[in-house]
Amino acid sequence: MTKDTIHERIEERRTELVSLTRTIWENPELGLQETDSAGLLANTLAEEGFTVERGIGGMPTAFAASYGTGDPTIGILGEYDALPGLSQKVGAQREPVEVGAPGHGCGHNLFGVGSLGAAIAIKEAIESGEIDGTIRYYGCPAEETLVGKVYMARSGVFDDLDAALTWHPSQVSAPWKARSLAMNSLEYTFTGQSAHAADSPESGRSALDAVELMNLGVEFMREHISEDARIHYSITNGGGAPNVVPAEASVWYFVRASTRSGVDRITDWLDDIADGATLMSQTTVDRQFLTGCYDYIANDTLSDVLLSNMRELGEIPYTEADREFAAELRDTLDEATIESRLSVLSEPVRSAARDQALYSEPMESFDEGTVLSGSTDVGDVSWITPVAQFWCASWPAGTPSHTWQAVAANGDFAATSAVYAAKVLAGSAYDLFTTPSLIETANEELRSTRPHEYESPLPETAEPPMEMDVN
Ligand SMILES: [Zn+2]
Repeated sequence: MTKDTIHERIEERRTELVSLTRTIWENPELGLQETDSAGLLANTLAEEGFTVERGIGGMPTAFAASYGTGDPTIGILGEYDALPGLSQKVGAQREPVEVGAPGHGCGHNLFGVGSLGAAIAIKEAIESGEIDGTIRYYGCPAEETLVGKVYMARSGVFDDLDAALTWHPSQVSAPWKARSLAMNSLEYTFTGQSAHAADSPESGRSALDAVELMNLGVEFMREHISEDARIHYSITNGGGAPNVVPAEASVWYFVRASTRSGVDRITDWLDDIADGATLMSQTTVDRQFLTGCYDYIANDTLSDVLLSNMRELGEIPYTEADREFAAELRDTLDEATIESRLSVLSEPVRSAARDQALYSEPMESFDEGTVLSGSTDVGDVSWITPVAQFWCASWPAGTPSHTWQAVAANGDFAATSAVYAAKVLAGSAYDLFTTPSLIETANEELRSTRPHEYESPLPETAEPPMEMDVN
């Protein structure tokens, strides 16, 4: 079974894979609530002969599906969570399927399925005796809330991997080499004493005062932390009626920085500020650590393997009808948005992407040496085993993720990119199985770029936040 045969096998499954992307798209489920999506993918793999372990890390929608025995063990990561409020029909105008309902604005309906197609193709190669080793598909829930892989990592499921590969829908096709920010997500809940705010304020102690004092303290701290850091908060409980001194109030913080240690230092300072706020307001505080993640380290050795596999396949075979709908979608974006998204590219690619609604020619990394201002929980996996991922041209060039235009594309022509991604991932995994030196070099590279071994950012007591709702 050669790489061409692997590509052909995936091609034979095109209808099935496209249909899976549609089924998940039509039933968008938020992080840790992806019961149907995770079930569909896990059951499909079980029917293919994979051994499926469900409920990893205390999360019912996290699973791992393995096939084969012995080394090497190659992981392929899949995601399937949707975003709140992004419900959208397939069409070139803003029109929700259901107002306020979730939608697949990040293309995780494609992501989970493309990765699954690759895992099944590698399974067939192992089954036919062409390659030896183990392929493992990771069903990773709740990426949008940066929860899934972090809690999975704490349970040790990535520890025996020799390498892991993944991808992400985007506006163009290139290896993803940018770092991302490490982060912590914590909620501080203050408790005071309620009282009638007009009649007996002297008996009350306001938990909302504590929240406000904490936020003020953090604003003063902001001047004295590293420039790469980002801190944002929202008051999740500010009390009720104004005539009642709030006995309970909560504030939810995200702390991000380019390194895990940077995030930890700022979090310690935040804890001190929270304690200070309790002294000033005569309240108490309880801190709940929701999640945290590492910065992402792209593995160059594996990224090169992905790029050469992308180049073997060339452009994504979008049809004329796909291009027409993509052009209609792009017409709904304002020029400034398109220009800003395309500004990461250099000429002549930038002009070419500007001229074509769908630009899928594989290119060298455009983000090497940069740091994304967001975070991803793929970061945690990248500290445990060598990881590479690629951006895939699923959306009209210039389209930001988490928009209704991306949702519309993900329910339509973007399914073609999931089949393409399956071929790239399977071809790349095949290269790793057949060329062991690539795995050795990738692991040496990780040991030399990683400043220390992975240690879970989660406190021992932290549990998956099942009710977390992040926009
Ligand atoms: Zn995403």
